[in-house]
Parts: sequence; C-alpha cells; structure tokens
Amino acid sequence: MGRAVAAFQGQAYLGDMRRLILLLFAMLLMPMPVAAGELAKLREMDARIAAISHRLATANLALCPFPSPLQGMLVQDIGQYAPEWRAEAQADLGLSDVPTVTVVVPGSSAARAGVRVGDHVLAMDGTPTPRSTLKAPASYQVVEAVLAQLAAALQDGSVRLLIDRGGVQQTLSMDADLACPANVELVPGKKLSASADGKTVHVSSALATFAGSDDAGAVPIAHEMAHNILRHPERLDRQGIKRGLLAPLGKNRAAIRATEEEADYFAAYMLARAGYSLDAALDFWRRYGAKTDLGPFNDGTHPGKKARLDLARRTVAEIRAKQAAGQPLIPTLVEQN
Ligand SMILES: [Zn+2]
Repeated sequence: MGRAVAAFQGQAYLGDMRRLILLLFAMLLMPMPVAAGELAKLREMDARIAAISHRLATANLALCPFPSPLQGMLVQDIGQYAPEWRAEAQADLGLSDVPTVTVVVPGSSAARAGVRVGDHVLAMDGTPTPRSTLKAPASYQVVEAVLAQLAAALQDGSVRLLIDRGGVQQTLSMDADLACPANVELVPGKKLSASADGKTVHVSSALATFAGSDDAGAVPIAHEMAHNILRHPERLDRQGIKRGLLAPLGKNRAAIRATEEEADYFAAYMLARAGYSLDAALDFWRRYGAKTDLGPFNDGTHPGKKARLDLARRTVAEIRAKQAAGQPLIPTLVEQN
C-alpha cells in the first residue's frame, strides 16, 4: 500500500495522494463562495497547463521508456462540484450531467479530430459514458471513471466519440498520439506546491500564478513529470525508502534527494527539447528558492535554494555545450529504471 509521492517542495507525502487531493479539492469547493467567472479563470489556467504538459510530453517522447496515448483534452462533469456550485458551473463551463469537454489542446489529437470545448461526450467506442446524479454531493467518481474509460479506449490507438454539440449528435474519430505520460491536474490552492504520485502530476493554482509565464510554469510541471517518467516512486518503494515523517531519517534522506536532483536535471533537458527558455527556468528557480527556501529547517530530502540553483546552472551549461556542438540533447542518468 501507500504509493508514495515525490514532492516538489520540502515535503513528502504518504498514501494515495491523488485521492486525498481530490477529496481536499472537493471539500474546498464546497464552502467557498465563488466569484463570478472564477471557474472560467480556473479553466483558462487548466488550458495553459494542459498545453504545457502536452508540449513537454510530445517533445520528449524519445526520452520516455513508457509512452502512453495522449488525450489532448480535458473533461469535466457537474457532479465534481458541490450542489451549490452547480448553477455557476453550468453557466460558466456549460457542464451538465453528461461529461463535457472543457479544454482542447491546440494541435492535439483531440483538436485534429474536431473535438470542441462544450461538446458533451455521450459514448466512447459505443459504450455510454457514466452520468452524475445531480442531487449527490460533490464527487470525482464520475469524472475519474470517464477519464479511465477514455484512457482504456485509447489503448488501441484510437477512439470513436459520440458527442452532443448543441443538441446535434455526431461521431468523431480520434487517433491518439503516443507521448510521455502527461496526466497533469490543476489543484486550486494558496500553497506553492506540486507533486507527482507515479501517475498524475498535481500543480497548485498558486504555483501556476507565481510562475507567471508559460516558460516558467513549465519548470515545475517538467520536474514532476520527470518523477513519473523516471518512475521515482516505484524506485523508492523498491529500495524500501520511507517518505512522509520518516523521510529525513537514515538512508531515506539521501535516496529521496537523489531522485529530486535527478528530476531537476532531467527536467532541464525536457524544457530545452520542448523549446522552453532555459533563462526563464533559471529565473524561476531563483525566485522559487527565494520564496520557499526553508534555510536551516530544510530536512535534507530536497536541495536548498543554493544547491538547486547551482545544479540548474550546471545542467543548463551542459545543455548549451551540447547545443553548440550539435549533439543530441540526451540526459546522462546515473541510475536506470
Ligand atoms: Zn520533486
């Protein structure tokens, strides 16, 4: 049990973080009053993060030992919102009890298939999609089931989507691109945090806002994707490394830190290969370090701001030397999975 999480900041988590975060997300959505247009703003952020992860995933296919079909779209369902938010979600996002497309990444397989924001997905490969019970409390069950259905349908490389667009039904045929695993979810929250659990990357809205540009926002996303691409949670499990409260103890600290440094190193290559600015990456690490460094309270599982920036500078110099020499941008990893 307890698929552990490699965390971006100076914390590590135990257990099934994804479920916990989704639960927190659902709880968060319940009591907070929502300003008009707030959901639409979150959706814009969702779209940017989806586009960044899509670009990182496709540009780095050659570095990924375990590619998977890329969806290129996000789906939401009204049941993931608390009942008092549903009118807003319906108005702002066009949601209903049928799963609805809220983001289509430009240039993705979904875009090429003609999928549009606002399409209601009725069935995939002839199997109806699950529906929400509108009176039930907020739950991610349906949207998770829809995403799992889509992932399973795409395993053979394509899916037939039966959609309802403005009351007219049509079938769209979508071929999936193979790419690095790029399941990235935005989590509304005030903490600058990002994490990876082996399957999914979570990025807080505060961190996305703090990053500012897409070039900077790509940095933590690439770092967390690197943890999943390199299967760090599995490696640490195999080594019997404890996370959470035991992380700073014994052999745990050095092993976790090694994965953190490897993720930073690998992520710089991912950014370069995807055409993101390495200067913006260095600037992000500088700003992020200044804002979050724990100083003497750093438990040693993550490098402090100076060590992190030094590693980033060395990696950028290594990448630029390879670019100048016309060499391929392949990171040199010490440990293979
Ligand atoms: Zn990390």
